[in-house]
Amino acid sequence: MKEKEREKIIKCVEQETEGFEIDDIQLKETKHSYFDTIKIYEVITKSKVNLWVLTGDHTPMNLYPKKEYDTVESIYYTHIGLIANLCSQTVHDYFILKFIKDKSIFPIVDMKLKEIEKDVKIGVSSLKLLSLANMIRETLLSLSNYLCTNELRNDNNIKEGDFKNSMDLFIGNLFPGKTNKSRRSFFKNICNEVWTFNSVLVHKKDLTIYDIFNSINSVKLLTSISNNYLTSLEMPFNKGKCPICESEDYIMLKPSNSNYNYKCKNCGEKYSIKI
Ligand SMILES: [Zn+2]
Repeated sequence: MKEKEREKIIKCVEQETEGFEIDDIQLKETKHSYFDTIKIYEVITKSKVNLWVLTGDHTPMNLYPKKEYDTVESIYYTHIGLIANLCSQTVHDYFILKFIKDKSIFPIVDMKLKEIEKDVKIGVSSLKLLSLANMIRETLLSLSNYLCTNELRNDNNIKEGDFKNSMDLFIGNLFPGKTNKSRRSFFKNICNEVWTFNSVLVHKKDLTIYDIFNSINSVKLLTSISNNYLTSLEMPFNKGKCPICESEDYIMLKPSNSNYNYKCKNCGEKYSIKI
C-alpha cells in the first residue's frame, strides 16, 4: 500500500470516528466495477469493531463498521450502491432511476438481449427459435458469471456455468444474515424459476415466438431485480438519522456493548443504533 493511501485512510477514520485506535490496515481486494476500480481495506482496530474503508480512483472514500456477517462481497456491493446513490443526488434526483431503466449495470446482457430480439420475427423457423432459446440461456449464464465472480466460485468449488449454485452463492453473499432471509428467498426463487423455464425451452419441440418473448422478458426481470438490489441495498449505517434534527451527517463514536454510537454533526445529539 502506498504511504499516501495509508495516510488518507487514517485521516478518514479520524474524521468519521472517535475513540478508535488503528492496529493495522489490510488491503483485502481490488475490484473492477462498472464505473471505477475499488480498493477494499479492512482497518483492524483495538476496539471491538473493525472498519471497512473502500476507495476508488474516481469515487470518494467511505468508511463502514464491520458487522458480524459482512463479507468482502457484501461490503463491496453496499459501497457500490451508496456511491451510485451519491452520484444520483449530485447529478439529478432521478438519475439513478433513469440509469437503472435505460442503462442497467449489465451492458453485456442488454446487448445480447437486443441482438436476440432483432431476430424474433413472425414466420421464423422452429430451428431458429430453438437457437434463440439457447442464446437466451447463454445470456443467463453470462449474468451469473458476471455476478458470481471467478474468485468466489473457485473458493466454493462451483463450476462456471453452474447457474443455480453460482446465483445462490452470490445472493448469500449479497444478503447475509437473518434479516435478509425474505430477500434471499425471493431472489433465489425468481432465479430458479427463470432458469427452469429457460432450460425447458431449449428442449421444446413446439416452441413459439411467444415462448421466446416470455423467455426474453424473464431474463429482463432477473436483470432488473439484480440491478435494483445492487444499486439500492439497505445501508443502515449510512441511512442512520439523528432522532432530533433528522440530519444524516454524523461521526461514529466508539461502540459500546451491542450498540453503534453516533454524534450528530448538526445538533450535537448523541444516539445509538443496535449492532
Ligand atoms: Zn441532530
